[in-house]
Amino acid sequence: MVQEDVDEYFSSKRDEIIGHIKDIIGVKSVTSCDDENDAEKVAKRDKGLEDVVDTAAALVQSIFGERATSYVLKNDSHRPGIVGRIKVDPSLPTVLLYAHLDVMPAPPEKWHLEEYGMKDPFDMQVVKDRIVGRGVSDDKGPFVVAMHGIKYLLEHDRLPVNIEFLCETGEESGSPGFDKLVEHAQQEGYLKNPSSILVGDTKFFGDTPTLTTTLRGIITARIELELHKKSLHSGLWGGVAVNPEEVINAAYATCKNPLTGEIMVYGFSDGTPRLEGELKNSLIATSEKFDLKKELDEGGVGESFTNQSFSALARMWMRPTLECHGTRPVNIGSAIPGAACMDITMRYVNGQDPTDMADKLQEKLQKYHPEIRVVYDPDEVAEAVTIDTSHPVFEKAAAAIEHAHGKRPVYAGIGGSIGSVGLFQKVFPDAPQVLMSHSLANDGHHGPNEKWDIVMAERWMKSVCHYLGSMGEKE
Ligand SMILES: [Zn+2]
Repeated sequence: MVQEDVDEYFSSKRDEIIGHIKDIIGVKSVTSCDDENDAEKVAKRDKGLEDVVDTAAALVQSIFGERATSYVLKNDSHRPGIVGRIKVDPSLPTVLLYAHLDVMPAPPEKWHLEEYGMKDPFDMQVVKDRIVGRGVSDDKGPFVVAMHGIKYLLEHDRLPVNIEFLCETGEESGSPGFDKLVEHAQQEGYLKNPSSILVGDTKFFGDTPTLTTTLRGIITARIELELHKKSLHSGLWGGVAVNPEEVINAAYATCKNPLTGEIMVYGFSDGTPRLEGELKNSLIATSEKFDLKKELDEGGVGESFTNQSFSALARMWMRPTLECHGTRPVNIGSAIPGAACMDITMRYVNGQDPTDMADKLQEKLQKYHPEIRVVYDPDEVAEAVTIDTSHPVFEKAAAAIEHAHGKRPVYAGIGGSIGSVGLFQKVFPDAPQVLMSHSLANDGHHGPNEKWDIVMAERWMKSVCHYLGSMGEKE
C-alpha cells in the first residue's frame, strides 16, 4: 500500500498537529523531583503526571471524537496512565501502540530560551524547521503524531486492524509499577490480546533509521557506608576518624578504571553474548553506516575510553557498564560525614543476571571495607531485552521505514532501557514488539534544547501509516 497522500495530509494538518503537541508539552510532567522526601515537591511531580494523562485523554477525544474510547488509569498502585481503543472490526487483530508521557527534568539555565523565544523549556516553539521543547521527541510529540496518522488511516478507510494505545508516566524512572498499570488496564477491559506491539520511543544515529532489537537493562543502586552515628567536627576528630566518603570513593576506584573504562570486578560481564554470527554481522552492518567521530562530537562526548577491546557500538549496546553519578552528602561544610552514599547504575545485557552483578560488585567493594553495601530495589530493575525478528511484522516495519525515509533500516541495539518492553514480553509472549525509531540521537532527548525536526515528524507519520496500513496484507 502506497500512501503518497500522507505527505499532503501532514501538510494540511501541520498547524493542528503542532498545536496538539504544544498543548501536551505545556503540561510539566517531569518524571522525578529533586527531593523524594519533600512532600510538596512530590505532590507537584504527581500533579504534573496526573495532568498529562488528562490532557492526553482530551487530545484523543478531540482527534477521534466518537471513534475512540479511552480510560484514564489512576490508582495508588501505579503511576497515572491512559489506555484507549480505536475499534474498526472485532474480527480483526489488534495492534497495541505504546508511548510515554513523562519527561526528564529540564533545568532552564541550560536552554537557549531567549534565542528560541521560549518562556521555559515547556513553552514549545517552532524554530525554523523544528520544534523545540521538553518532550517534543521523547516521547510526547511522537505519540501525538502517531495518533494523527491513525486518524488519517481511519478517515481514508485504510486501517485494517483495531488499535489500542497505552501511555505511561514512569518510563524515564524505569517504569515503576508498570505491571500494575497493565493489570489495571486489563481490568477495565483493555489489552486482552494484542497481536503485535508498536513501541515508538527510540532514536537513531546518523542517517540510517533503525529497528531496535536489543535493549540493555539497568540496575539503579547506591553504594553505602555508615561509620559514625553522626557527622563529626573535623577540628575535634580530624586526624582520628575515618571518612566514609573517602572510603567509598577509594573502594569504587578499585572497581573501574575511569580512563580505560575497564571494569575490574571479577565475573561482572558473565553471561554476555559472544559477538559472533548474526549479532556480529548486524554490528558490522550498523557500524558501516555509523560515523562514530561525528556522533561523538554531536553527542557532546569530549573524551572517550582508551580501551578498545570491543568496538564502540558493542560497548554501547552489548556490554555491561558501571557508572558513578555522584557521592552524597555534599556541602557538609567542614564536617567529616558519618555516612556516605554513591549513586551508581549498572547496565546489563540479556543473558546476564543483575542480582549476581550487584553481588559481585559488593564483594569487590567489601575487599576494601567489609561494611560497604550495594543497595537497590529489585522491583525497579529494568529488564534487558533481545527481540526475535523472525516474525513477518518486522519485514512490514522495515518496508514502512524504507518507504518513509527512503532508506532501508538496520537492526540495531540501544544502550538504554525501556522498562515496558521487558514486561510486555512476559505478559504478551506471542506479540512481537516493533521498536521503530522516530528521532535522532542528537535531538537532545534528555539534555537541554530538545528538538524534533518537522521532517522527522512527517516521516514518523508515514512510517506509522504505512506499517499499520500494511497489516492487512498477506505476508
Ligand atoms: Zn523515551
